[in-house]
Amino acid sequence: MDIELSPEDIAFRDEVRAFLAANLPAKVKRGAASSPTVFVEPDIGQDWNAILQDKGWLSYQWPEEVGGTGWTPVQRYLFEKECALAGAPNLTVLGLKLVAPVIYSFGTPEQKAYYLPRILSGEDYWCQGFSEPGAGSDLASLKTQAVRDGDRYIVNGSKMWTTHAHWANKIFCLVRTDNEVRKQAGISFLLIDMDQPGISVRPILTLAGDHEVNQVFFEDVSVPVENLVGEEGQGWGIAKFLLENERGGSCHAPKLLYDLDTIAEAAADQPDGRGGKLADDRDWKRRLGKLKLRAQALEMIELKILAEIASGRAPGPQTSLTKMLASNLRQDVDLLAVDLYGAAGLELDRARPLYGDNAPAPLESPQSQVASARYLNSRAWTIFGGTNEVQATIIAKTVLGL
Ligand SMILES: Cc1cc2nc3c(=O)[nH]c(=O)nc-3n(C[C@H](O)[C@H](O)[C@H](O)COP(=O)(O)OP(=O)(O)OC[C@H]3O[C@@H](n4cnc5c(N)ncnc54)[C@H](O)[C@@H]3O)c2cc1C
Repeated sequence: MDIELSPEDIAFRDEVRAFLAANLPAKVKRGAASSPTVFVEPDIGQDWNAILQDKGWLSYQWPEEVGGTGWTPVQRYLFEKECALAGAPNLTVLGLKLVAPVIYSFGTPEQKAYYLPRILSGEDYWCQGFSEPGAGSDLASLKTQAVRDGDRYIVNGSKMWTTHAHWANKIFCLVRTDNEVRKQAGISFLLIDMDQPGISVRPILTLAGDHEVNQVFFEDVSVPVENLVGEEGQGWGIAKFLLENERGGSCHAPKLLYDLDTIAEAAADQPDGRGGKLADDRDWKRRLGKLKLRAQALEMIELKILAEIASGRAPGPQTSLTKMLASNLRQDVDLLAVDLYGAAGLELDRARPLYGDNAPAPLESPQSQVASARYLNSRAWTIFGGTNEVQATIIAKTVLGL
């Protein structure tokens, strides 16, 4: 499905397409295709970030006054769509799309001048310290404490499920600075250096054996007060802004459609067990067709939200709908890939990465090798960024008025 593009948008799309054809390295593309996790490993992600930064396109979502490209919402969507169709890796969003908007919207001039260029250069690699043991869906119950001591905060507590904390040199955290007020009003937003005494990172291996998430412990960690973003007690409002950004203006459908096309192509060579090819099997075609229709419907919704954003309206609760639809679809597409490859699709290599010179040899192909790990990893889609149940509650309350 295509939106009706203006001649300028078509020229823009063609420019992006040509750039990707000439500049997306085979190694990066191969790395993206063989990564079971949502965020690719930093060696792949940072290489791709650097190429986009050289072109001036890395900060494409930022406002022009802080170094953005000035693209329209349609152009931003086209860029993400072309990247997905070219097989480029997902960008490392934690710095670029999560903390950067917080810094340029709520930060001091000094914070903007210091942190934003370091995100673009790759000097800083960020992780997100929101969830805690006992505070995930009910985030406002978080307990990590920051106590003011002169011009420092002393931080104690722990953060849970922290993606890529083992790679990061910075963490943005929600911390409790006041226990006497309503729980949301006692939360503040702190930027913390990971490389300092008192911080330790404990790996958590996921179902497929990936080291993607961690638990992070803080023991008397000393943080300068100038690392507070906004005012003390403003952290909850900032977190809501960040989560809306995380869910809003999404572009999930192109990647899902790309993956479905890749699966459809591979089915042309895959035996159906009765002497024919899977691609000609009626049940297979029906299953693939249904998923494709769901992905196209999702793209329609994403484009509708985009049109609303372009006309100045906030994305609103539809973003919960796209998060849910995309998460369910992602899991179904990854299951289809496992089924496509039959016995080879059940291979579960626990060595990482599955690209590069030291990668284990696949039983059948690099695509079949990653299928099971992807399927297991995508169980997390209906949990991170707000679980499906939480999204359903938002939709029930704000859209259906229940
Ligand atoms: C792979 C992965 C990466 C993550 N990365 C990060 C990260 O980088 N930084 C970070 O801060 N967090 C991260 N998270 C944490 C994620 O945001 C939380 O896991 C999520 O918010 C759910 O919280 P919880 O795990 O504590 O589950 P709970 O909140 O304990 O939920 C358990 C179950 O109860 C249900 N439930 C809870 N409350 C309600 C309710 N009110 N109504 C109906 N059902 C409810 C939930 O839907 C779920 O099924 C990550 C999680 C995963 C799986």
